[in-house]
Amino acid sequence: MYPRAFHYHRAGSLTEAVTMLSQLGDDAKLLAGGQSLIPLMKLRFANPGHLVDLNFISGTSYIQEEDGGLRFGALTRHAEIADSALAAKIPIVHDCAAGIADVQVRNRGTIGGSLAEADPSGDWAVVLMTLATEVRCLGTNGERTVPLAGFVKDAYTTALAHDELVSEVRVKIPAKGSGGAYIAFKRSAPVYPTASAAVQLTMDGDVCKDAAIVLGCVGLTAIKVTDAEVALRGHSFTDKAIKAAMEAASAAADPQSDMRGSADYKRTLVGALVKRAIEAASHRARGEQVEVSHIYA
Ligand SMILES: Cc1cc2nc3c(=O)[nH]c(=O)nc-3n(C[C@H](O)[C@H](O)[C@H](O)COP(=O)(O)OP(=O)(O)OC[C@H]3O[C@@H](n4cnc5c(N)ncnc54)[C@H](O)[C@@H]3O)c2cc1C
Repeated sequence: MYPRAFHYHRAGSLTEAVTMLSQLGDDAKLLAGGQSLIPLMKLRFANPGHLVDLNFISGTSYIQEEDGGLRFGALTRHAEIADSALAAKIPIVHDCAAGIADVQVRNRGTIGGSLAEADPSGDWAVVLMTLATEVRCLGTNGERTVPLAGFVKDAYTTALAHDELVSEVRVKIPAKGSGGAYIAFKRSAPVYPTASAAVQLTMDGDVCKDAAIVLGCVGLTAIKVTDAEVALRGHSFTDKAIKAAMEAASAAADPQSDMRGSADYKRTLVGALVKRAIEAASHRARGEQVEVSHIYA
């Protein structure tokens, strides 16, 4: 289906894009990779009267290291992150970027667009919630920094005002002795996961000093499983500790039954994904090279 007719505006800078949003009002939307917005427009679930295109603004796609963190320009494509040696300094970030959909979607879709979309099935928020992540937002009143946990408010809802955009995503590089892994279960590459689990650990020998565990696609937003983190923190990874983390993950999941599986199935699945992600993350925390890829049905 064709989208409804709309006016196209090409922004020359992020500041100009913000001004356009403010002048055009609620009927205007930003266009980044178009990998969520354009399908929604074709289905006529989204019918903006004005599109403000960010794609021709120079200097919005970059990955830079600064002050112990990585800075991602809002228009940085998933594929650029998957191919970046700098981004690979945080292996869970590479897992995420490399596993999103297929090559076409990864070549167009952007990290800023994904976070702004706040799709309950999107991968980026799940992974970045395990890390110290901040979102830089630019509006008509200037820039502000919002921690990711406060940025995503609900399904498809963020802290962005209408005339505000994501300009940059900042992620702290985890301390030495840390490792993370992201594993999703998918029916095929170009579909969203049935469920996913992101685990980021800091180890002191065999003992887990710190853990962050976040689930995807089993709730309206990414779910941080505090009980599973507590089950691991201060312990070595015995069968008992891992079982407790799996059970906490299954209990925290709040999935819907749909074409991807029943709610009960997803609750069980997410426990198994957490177990696999803990295993991969703990190897990486010990400095071992471990390839992690999604599991396909
Ligand atoms: C077939 C298919 C499969 C997919 N599978 C997956 C998957 O497995 N996992 C996954 O995570 N994603 C998946 N996606 C979505 C993909 O990752 C998108 O790239 C992403 O959701 C949106 O990014 P975008 O740059 O394309 O944004 P767009 O589609 O251009 O925009 C999305 C929304 O964000 C707003 N927006 C865009 N950029 C900004 C900004 N800088 N500041 C503020 N608002 C902004 C737009 O106005 C719009 O409302 C899939 C998409 C398709 C088409």
